[in-house]
Amino acid sequence: MQPIFLEPYFREKIWGGRKLADIFHYDIPAGDIGEAWVISGHKNGPSKITNGPMKGEYLDKAYVDHPEYFGNPTSKVFPLLTKILDAEDSLSVQVHPDDEYARIHENDLGKTECWYVLDADPGSYLIYGHHAKTKEELAEMIKAGDWDDLLRKVPVKKGDFFYVPSGTIHALTKGIMVLESQQSSDTTYRLYDYDRVDKTTGKLRDLHIQQSIDTTTVPYVEPKLNVEEQVIGKSKITTYLQPPVSKYFYVYKLDVDGELKLTKGTHPYQLVSIIAGNGQLAVDGESYDVKKGTNFIIPAQVENFTLVGEMQAIISAPTEN
Ligand code: ZN
Repeated sequence: MQPIFLEPYFREKIWGGRKLADIFHYDIPAGDIGEAWVISGHKNGPSKITNGPMKGEYLDKAYVDHPEYFGNPTSKVFPLLTKILDAEDSLSVQVHPDDEYARIHENDLGKTECWYVLDADPGSYLIYGHHAKTKEELAEMIKAGDWDDLLRKVPVKKGDFFYVPSGTIHALTKGIMVLESQQSSDTTYRLYDYDRVDKTTGKLRDLHIQQSIDTTTVPYVEPKLNVEEQVIGKSKITTYLQPPVSKYFYVYKLDVDGELKLTKGTHPYQLVSIIAGNGQLAVDGESYDVKKGTNFIIPAQVENFTLVGEMQAIISAPTEN
């Protein structure tokens, strides 16, 4: 049994840049590339499998056609999505719906997401939450464009982690790169886009004021994470997210120094992204070179795997299957 290696899908964005080529060494298209969908089964940009018996297939279809690799899931839609984002400029101030609202209005999943900060220019901040006390106050402040009073700004640096449940007003701002683990959804409601003109269309991008007011959680409550660290030899496993705080996914960070043996545990399968360093992945007696920018899935049939080298990785896994 082999790991499932994947090739990213890239998306141009008004706020994107070239760091996905310069820092992650991806072969990206021309233009301002904001997003690499590195492990994606979303129909709007699925990743392609590059090895093994499913080589050449896209993850959305492979998930349906070969359910045994994914622990025979009940759903027909690959539930998670891992992206790397390069915010050369600030993203729109936005909010995402929960599952019920997204199903009724968008025929999509809701979007709870989280960010591991890969890089941040000195002095960078995020927009993360808001200061309105009631829905009425939220609506008034949005309509008045009272952004300084409404938006909660949080300083950010490399290595920080943020959990962003659906209903949270948020934005990455200029000079930040993150690895995002999220529900597989492509639904974003924009409250404010800095009155920017999109070069590709010559127009302002659409805003979604009513949907934003409908879906924003009021008042904002900062999530309380129960982060756990486990030291194994010279390596470390940090658990950022797990139930009951996190409804949809587990998220771990690995700091590998030497040899780190890992097990599938209770997870049906695991999504793994190498975010720094390099080394080898050993599965079933075979060894594969991995490095910053490599993404793969450990399928359901694999009980144990080993990472050897000096590297950092983010792993996610669904809470239900
Ligand atoms: Zn978002």
